[in-house]
Amino acid sequence: MKTLAYKNGDQMPALGLGTWKSKPGEVEKAVYEAIKIGFRHIDCAPIYGNESEVGEGIKKAINEGIVSREDLWITSKLWNDSHRREDVIPALQNTLSDLQVDYLDLYLIHWPVALKKGVGFPESSEDFLSLDEVPITETWEGMQDAYRQGLVKHIGVSNFNINKLNEIINECKVAPAINQVEMHPFLPQNELLNFCNSHDIHMTAYSPLGSGDRPEKMKKDNEPTLLEHEVIESIANTHGCSTAQVLIAWALERGTAVIPKSVNKERIQQNFNASEIKLKQDEIDTINALDYEYRFVDGEAWDLAGNSYEASKFWD
Ligand code: NDP
Repeated sequence: MKTLAYKNGDQMPALGLGTWKSKPGEVEKAVYEAIKIGFRHIDCAPIYGNESEVGEGIKKAINEGIVSREDLWITSKLWNDSHRREDVIPALQNTLSDLQVDYLDLYLIHWPVALKKGVGFPESSEDFLSLDEVPITETWEGMQDAYRQGLVKHIGVSNFNINKLNEIINECKVAPAINQVEMHPFLPQNELLNFCNSHDIHMTAYSPLGSGDRPEKMKKDNEPTLLEHEVIESIANTHGCSTAQVLIAWALERGTAVIPKSVNKERIQQNFNASEIKLKQDEIDTINALDYEYRFVDGEAWDLAGNSYEASKFWD
């Protein structure tokens, strides 16, 4: 299994299990089966509403002696309603308690968007705090507090563009270790990846299979489908594997981490086996030549009239 090395010598398994949309009734089993299969990296977030069940799956695997806590890489994320410095550690403590662990390997600012305390998803501009009220550098201070207290081994961000990364890089004492963003052949994020590579920031690819199970309201008409794309299908046929496996292998070849979500044991196994697939350079070049710039998770939820997070500036 490929790993991504951190400055202190820690190694993050490049392939992890995603847990967004994994229902409370099924995610405990999915996490447990994934660990049995060999996954050692689990991607979580309190906004997924399932961290305590994820914690049960982890506990079962540890209690049965399949792994120890130290064998696992557990990532979680700070939700947008806890961006004030003093709110970061209490939010993290809730996640630690739900996951039944006493530290995280990695803690991320989920989005560069601040919401009022208690808001899950905004319904009007009233639900936001502006970036003047709670600058992202204030939130990063809270993340650094958590790091200094040993509650998290590494801190990073998610859904950050180059400008937002620079805001933190220019002010921070502890640099962001990773940026988790949507990344797949329809959105290869080449410029962001180059920037992160040149600043010693790892990247994790989310929605690597196109996030087909996300809520209907997040979908657009006539979306392209990654899992059925003819180029990906043809490469899959050559390798005698699935299109999902080609997509995962492509992400691993680029030196990023990748966190496909599944609650299905066979597909979890299939996704794990993708780490054995070696794509040829001409296959990688063919995939890289796909030029869609299509975003499945477009941050539209933050684009409510009257707030300071216009979609047009969000990703640039
Ligand atoms: P994915 O791209 O991982 O796609 C998940 C979908 O693919 C599910 O419907 C799943 O179904 C299906 N699937 C899984 N494996 C296979 C397979 N081998 N063949 C066919 N279909 C398959 O979507 P996500 O958006 O969930 O992204 C992955 C993870 O990234 C999330 O779960 C979350 O942890 C993280 N994430 C982070 C975000 C952030 O803002 N930081 C935003 C979005 C995601 P089934 O479960 O039935 O197998």
